Amino acid sequence: MRNLKNKRVLITGGTRGIGAATAKRFIEEGSRVAVLGRDQVALEEIKKELPQLEAAFKADVAIVEDVHRVFTHLDRMWQGLDVLINNAGISIRHSFMDITLEEWQEIMNINLTGLFYVAKQAAQRMLAAEQGGVILNISSTSGYAAYHYYADYNASKAGVIELSRSMALELAPRIRVVPVCPGYVLTPMQEAEYTPEMMRECASKIPLGRMARPEEMASVLAFLASDDASYITGSIFIADGGETAGALTSQR
Ligand code: NDP
Repeated sequence: MRNLKNKRVLITGGTRGIGAATAKRFIEEGSRVAVLGRDQVALEEIKKELPQLEAAFKADVAIVEDVHRVFTHLDRMWQGLDVLINNAGISIRHSFMDITLEEWQEIMNINLTGLFYVAKQAAQRMLAAEQGGVILNISSTSGYAAYHYYADYNASKAGVIELSRSMALELAPRIRVVPVCPGYVLTPMQEAEYTPEMMRECASKIPLGRMARPEEMASVLAFLASDDASYITGSIFIADGGETAGALTSQR
């Protein structure tokens, strides 16, 4: 991809799944990469797997002090930031009537409020730099189509889409902001909540006939962060194997 070499890239939730694959991909593109996550063991593992990582911070995006600590460190280490992959997120599979207020707040605090606050810190640095930057906020097909048993997650991801579009309007032309909507991606998040049978059932409804691999999302993110996507901002970028293409049509 064009012009990712030496770019300073922060990936939240970069210890596994889509985030880890994305860290690997940006390193391959010659970028300078830092990740953050909450679990120390996972952080140690990703450092071993990707020794070129420049930092792996133990931080929770829902804790303001953690976010400030990470950016203070990045300011010292990089004196700025070119690309933010705002990827950290959680989901809980439960019916609407079972969602507790605490669960709702946890989902919102991480998926929406945490993402907002990290984006704001990144945008401050990017606006201060002549070359601007790129912010890719990870939403989901859940952000524009409701899935059963994920009402809180669906709502948080819908929020990510409109937050991103608002940011794109206000931060252009210095910063490109894109809400990225993956469909089903085979990651620890999926494996924790779907049985093999449920996964087969999901795959059968996807025109490409399978879930995505994390590396396929990493490719999308590398493209969107690169100068090859220099005219893309504020549009919802969907990578779902065609799953939602026929959203209003009945099954054959
Ligand atoms: P995983 O559960 O595999 O990985 C999530 C990553 O986020 C981990 O590194 C995790 O580390 C980190 N994380 C979670 N909560 C926090 C937090 N509060 N602070 C910092 N880091 C955190 O998820 P996926 O790779 O599947 O998903 C990545 C993103 O893509 C999420 O936003 C998800 O909603 C979205 N997505 C995923 C899809 C899928 O099918 N897999 C489909 C559509 C969207 P730790 O727990 O140690 O903090």
